[in-house]
Amino acid sequence: MVIILENNATEQQISNIKDHLHDFGFEIHESKGAVRTILGAIGVKPGFDIRKVKILEGVADVYRVTYPFKLASRSFKEDKSIVKIKDVEIGGDKLALMIGPCSVEGEEQIFKLAEVVAKSGAKILRGGAFKPRSSPYSFQGMGEEGLKLMRKAADEFGLLVITEVMQINQIDLIAKYADIFQVGARNMQNFSLLKELSTTRIPVMLKRGLSATIEEWLMSAEYILAGGNKDVILCERGIRTFEKYTRNTFDLSAIPVVHNKSHLPVIADPSHAIGLRDQVPPLARAAVAVGADGLMIEIHHDPENAFSDGPQALLPETYLNLVNEMRTIATAIGKTI
Ligand code: PEP
Ligand code: MN
Repeated sequence: MVIILENNATEQQISNIKDHLHDFGFEIHESKGAVRTILGAIGVKPGFDIRKVKILEGVADVYRVTYPFKLASRSFKEDKSIVKIKDVEIGGDKLALMIGPCSVEGEEQIFKLAEVVAKSGAKILRGGAFKPRSSPYSFQGMGEEGLKLMRKAADEFGLLVITEVMQINQIDLIAKYADIFQVGARNMQNFSLLKELSTTRIPVMLKRGLSATIEEWLMSAEYILAGGNKDVILCERGIRTFEKYTRNTFDLSAIPVVHNKSHLPVIADPSHAIGLRDQVPPLARAAVAVGADGLMIEIHHDPENAFSDGPQALLPETYLNLVNEMRTIATAIGKTI
């Protein structure tokens, strides 16, 4: 942490600031310039609130020089993490495709779509059984019945299952059916849920919160890592901005930024970002180009009658074409699908 003092800070103020820094447990380094004094405080503990220093009299500004996230950072782990689940790797040179409907709606629906997923070469079936809907009157998901159907369909076609866990008391139940827990955007800062998931050994895909900065997102990942679960995958799904013509704003820049700051794999979800079917393919192609480790895409064979997110679901044919396009782009950057 670097503390820049006011130009006119008095000796009394400086000594008071140093006393506080000592009390907080820091080692202090002082640099007296011609105009101002700068203090370097070494040994900032994760979670230390720098405002405790900012409010001291004589302090002009305070900066952290290390990131607040440790285990998620590249300085902690230089090599990129690869999350391995059975024969699937997420974070390596092969893109992970997580494909399926927004919600599991019934046996026929999930089997039809799982077949498309397998046909495309994707290895992971997505689908919600517990849905975080903005309206309490909207379809809330099939619950355990949905989980059972999804597992059955995935097993039939040799796929893994990713599905959302919304609350702590669903963890044990979902663990019986899923290979990857999805934490939805609305729960990114549900720290008690994250702590509980950190004690499981099932990989967790953490979606970026609706208004979360990259740092807040990585801090949430840190919760899962800190509790002992090393298998964390991030997912950029668009953030809320002033723009009204898109459902969210797809923050493509977050992908290379996260790769620079963290070793964790990042999946891109253009479906929830844009919210409109015809605009999903260009964003999916861009996500591959920008280096995403995989994609989450919603598909449906009858989107007009889908129970949730129909307008953003790709028809199977469109999806299959998109996979071919993405493959071309992946090849150009030394990856495969
Ligand atoms: C979903 O994946 O169906 C979902 C609800 O996503 P998000 O949490 O990104 O809105
Ligand atoms: Mn959805």
